[in-house]
Amino acid sequence: EAAKARFTVRNPTSLKFHEEAVKSLPGGNTRSLLHTAPFPVFIKSGKGYQVTSEDGHTYTDFVGELTAGLFGHSQPLIQDALVGTIRDVGLNLGGTTKLEAQHASLICSRFNLDLIRFTNSGTEANLHAIQGAKRFTRKRKVVVFTGGYHGGCFSFPEDKPAVNCVDQDDWIIAEYNDVEDARRKIEESGDIAAVLVEGMQGHGPCIVGTYEFLHQIQESARKVGALFVLDEVMTSRLSGGGLQQLEGLKPDLTTMGKYLGGGITFGCFGGREEIMRVYDPRDGNALGHSGTFNNNTLGMAAGYTGLSQVYTPEVARDFNAMGDRLRKKLQEIGQGTKMTITGRGTIIGIHFLKDGRKELKSFRDRQDEVELRELWWFEMMEDGFWITKRGMLALILGTPWDELERLVGCVSGFLKRHEA
Ligand code: PLP
Repeated sequence: EAAKARFTVRNPTSLKFHEEAVKSLPGGNTRSLLHTAPFPVFIKSGKGYQVTSEDGHTYTDFVGELTAGLFGHSQPLIQDALVGTIRDVGLNLGGTTKLEAQHASLICSRFNLDLIRFTNSGTEANLHAIQGAKRFTRKRKVVVFTGGYHGGCFSFPEDKPAVNCVDQDDWIIAEYNDVEDARRKIEESGDIAAVLVEGMQGHGPCIVGTYEFLHQIQESARKVGALFVLDEVMTSRLSGGGLQQLEGLKPDLTTMGKYLGGGITFGCFGGREEIMRVYDPRDGNALGHSGTFNNNTLGMAAGYTGLSQVYTPEVARDFNAMGDRLRKKLQEIGQGTKMTITGRGTIIGIHFLKDGRKELKSFRDRQDEVELRELWWFEMMEDGFWITKRGMLALILGTPWDELERLVGCVSGFLKRHEA
C-alpha cells in the first residue's frame, strides 16, 4: 500500500491522462497486458534504450516491446529507412512491391525457409499457418500445449480459446515439457493437421522447452503426417537463425513477427515449399490469404534494414551472450531466495515463488508470491527500470552493460531489504 501511494504521488500526470482514457477505452487500455494497478504510467517518448514518461521520469526499457523493440526507439539506420520510405516510396501502395520480395528472400535465407507469407501480426501468422496446415494435410485437429500463447485470442492457460480457425473440439491440449503426453496426444489422437508449439513459452514468462520435448514433437508429428509448426514469434531473436538453429530443429512451418518488422506491425509464416504452395494464387484452388497491410512499405523497409544491416548473425550471437551473462548474474543473487530466473539469451523471466524452486518446466509449477512480485515491480520503477508487471525482460540492443549491472544491484538490494 505504501508503494502504491508513492507511485500515485510520483505520477500525477499519468493519473490525469488515465482518467481521460477510461472514457473511450475499457479500463483506459487497449493492450490488456500493459494495464497496471492503480493506473498505468503514460509513456511520452523513447530514445535508444530508454523511455520517458509523461511525468518526466526516464526509465531503462526492459519491456523492449515484448521482444519487438529489439532495435530500441531511435536506431539511426531504421529511422533513415522509415523516413526515406515515407518520402520516396509512399505508404501502402495497393500493389506488389520489390520491398516485400527483398525482405522475404532475406528471412528465407536466415531462417532456412523455402517460402513465406507476410501478415500484420504474430497472431495472424499462427492462424494462417494452421489454416495452411489443415489444407495441406486435409486433417482437422491441432495439438497445442498448456501455458502456450500464440496471440490475442489464442492462448491456452487451461481451457480452449475463443472460436477461430479451429473448431472447439479439434483443439487437443497436451502438457508442456511432458515428452510422453506430447507423444501420446500427437500419435494417438488421429486426424492431426498440426502441432503448434513455442520453443520457450513467453507467457511463463520464459519457460524453456527441453531438447527432448521439442524433438519428440518433431518426431511424433512426422510419424503421423501432421505438420510441426514452431512459433518463433518471440524466439527468432535468440540466434541468427532463431531457436530452431540452436536446437537443431527442422519445423515444417515457422511463424514469426515482432522485431522482424523493424518496429512496425509485422508477422510472417513459412516453411517447406510444397506446403506453402497451397497459397500460390497461380493455382485456381489456392487458399486465399489477404490482409490490407501485409506488405505495408514501412514494415518491409524497416524490417529489411534491421535484419540486413543491424541484427546480423554475429550481432545476434554477441547480444544473446550478453543476455546469458545477465541471466547468470541474476541467478546467482537469487540463490537461496524466493526469486527464480528463467529464460534464454536476451529474453529473461523473473519469478517470485512461494517454494523458491529454481527450475520451472511448466506454468503449473509456479506458485507465485504475488505481493512480493508487485512490490518488486513498484520498487524497480522507482529505481528507473521499465519492466512488464509479469516480470519479463526483453533486452534492447545498445543497452550498456553498466545498466544491466545496475539492475542486478537494485534487484539484490530489493531481495535483502525484504528478506525474500
Ligand atoms: N506467439 C508468441 C509466442 C508471442 O509471444 C506473441 C506475442 O507476444 C504472438 C504469437 C502474437 O504476436 P502479435 O502480438 O504480433 O499478434
